[in-house]
Amino acid sequence: MLVVTESSIGGRIIMKIGIDPGHGGEDPGAMGAYGTREKDVNLAIAQRVEFLLKRMGIETVMTRTDDSSKSLMTRSNLLNGAKVDYVISIHCNSSNNPRPNYISTFVQASGGEAEQLAEKVQARMVQTTGWPDGGVRVQNLHMTRETMMPAVLCECGFISNPAQEVILKSSEGQARLARSIVDGLNDFVDRPVENPVVEQWKLNIMDRAAQNGLVTSPHEPDDAASKWFVLQVALNLLDAVVKK
Ligand SMILES: [Zn+2]
Repeated sequence: MLVVTESSIGGRIIMKIGIDPGHGGEDPGAMGAYGTREKDVNLAIAQRVEFLLKRMGIETVMTRTDDSSKSLMTRSNLLNGAKVDYVISIHCNSSNNPRPNYISTFVQASGGEAEQLAEKVQARMVQTTGWPDGGVRVQNLHMTRETMMPAVLCECGFISNPAQEVILKSSEGQARLARSIVDGLNDFVDRPVENPVVEQWKLNIMDRAAQNGLVTSPHEPDDAASKWFVLQVALNLLDAVVKK
């Protein structure tokens, strides 16, 4: 397991993570057929996420640590004031129909860091639960809109789906979801830096190779060449020579 500390993340000094267990207090959130309240599941998952992050040396800010009522504005103000690096809001989905059972992660807009984080978290949640992939979705939500830092909102399955409700209320299910969220955050932190600066001479070589049919699909100039890639380039070269 990757241990994230300030010194271990190639120059990127992070991090302080805001964790927002949805609902609470007078607001139970959605309710399952067996009486499970969304607010309790959200808090349990959030507390496990907090535990795992703290153990990795990551600072956390929880918008609630017990069954208390907190307005959305109170939550976003708290996270903005604490200047957390990223926000993860934790919810369970619900429908009038008991059948929907997918996992999805929401962001305010596509194209930013929040979407990248959401994709990593979403992938891990789907992988861990085996539940259908509802994808990363763009939606206008208070917690993703009013927070000044990249924020994602996880809908950890459907509490209105009886089979998922059973798992969501179990401590094992909660632990697995929490673990997957942290793994996704780890993947996000560990991802290659976007748009690395590539030296011009490498780009020139790639352009010439492409113009001459040596490579036939786009390649990252800094990618390591696999054995198969090298052999394919050799075969392309051979074809080009034979044609002449
Ligand atoms: Zn909710």
